[in-house]
Amino acid sequence: MHYTPARPDPNAPPVRINLLSDTQTRPTPAMREAMARAEVGDEQVGDDPTVNLLCDRVADLLGKEAAVFMPSGTMCNVAATLVYCRPGDEILAHATAHIIAREGGAHAALGGFQIMPLPGDDGQFTPATFRAALHPRTRYQPPQVLVSVEQTANIGGGTIWKKADLDEIVTIARDHGLATHMDGARLFNATVASNTSARAMATGWDSAWIDFSKGLGAPIGGVIAGTRAFIDDVWRWKQRLGGSMRQSGVCAAACIHALDHHVDRLADDHANARALARGLSQINGVEVQSPETNLVFFKPDSAGVPGDKMVAQLRKRGIMLAMMDGRIRACTHLDVSADMIEEAIGHIRDILRAA
Ligand SMILES: *Cc1c(COP(=O)(O)O)cnc(C)c1O
Repeated sequence: MHYTPARPDPNAPPVRINLLSDTQTRPTPAMREAMARAEVGDEQVGDDPTVNLLCDRVADLLGKEAAVFMPSGTMCNVAATLVYCRPGDEILAHATAHIIAREGGAHAALGGFQIMPLPGDDGQFTPATFRAALHPRTRYQPPQVLVSVEQTANIGGGTIWKKADLDEIVTIARDHGLATHMDGARLFNATVASNTSARAMATGWDSAWIDFSKGLGAPIGGVIAGTRAFIDDVWRWKQRLGGSMRQSGVCAAACIHALDHHVDRLADDHANARALARGLSQINGVEVQSPETNLVFFKPDSAGVPGDKMVAQLRKRGIMLAMMDGRIRACTHLDVSADMIEEAIGHIRDILRAA
């Protein structure tokens, strides 16, 4: 079996402007200092004070009883569905959801669950679409047990689910006996951009998690929160999946540093994304989705250069981004400055002019 190479091309010039993903951020010197100073213990036996502090803080931020530190956001999603569902159960999510498109089929492979892909613009389904997809409990239909949303919707363009829609989905789910799960990989992008608290966004959701290795700039980790009973069950799966760690306070310290220093600054990433979109939309023929947060999706094809060619040419100029579902995705983050955005726009103009 041959997979797309995960390793960068060794002959490509060094990356000067990294718009590939907010997962590419490097820990800042201050974050590294916080990691070096971290008090640690054995996380697996509940004895790492820094991990415990992080979990308490995230549980409080999300308005939940308890939380647990996980090595990745993917493991937050996988452990959660393993808690909620039995083999043959159905999960409802948007057709472009990470749990469908980006987790290696984990929910089918490990749990035997099927995911019903719901349609809708910009990575979101409406409460009405959700309601229409629910069926009565019968012998021959799969039990529908969980609904999952992504705040923000990644492939949807980093779009923000409106709090009113989230609330309505929770109400419908409860009426039909479904549990509710919020994939908050970029929850803080949504809260900062919409001036809403994380607690308000997660109100009513049985579980919610945030990723620290995206725009928050930590090297690894996600924290999932819910009731104490739910978190006990997640812990069981964390252990089973090999996700229980030891002196992981070193990593949790980076996450705490991110909570203290890297949340409000997400507004800068959003301003940079808007500047990029503005610059691109001024080029004849370039189609740009107006960004709500830090992800900018665009298509240069009608301006004369197909997306994949544009990506390759930019890479030769030290600018890295990638195609995602037929469009180019540019992602702004901690390591991308306003000057870099101007420079990237200049190169894109240049490549189109030469074509
Ligand atoms: C990145 C991402 C995940 C998975 O997080 P990892 O920490 O990379 O495992 C899940 N959901 C969404 C929407 C994401 O963007």
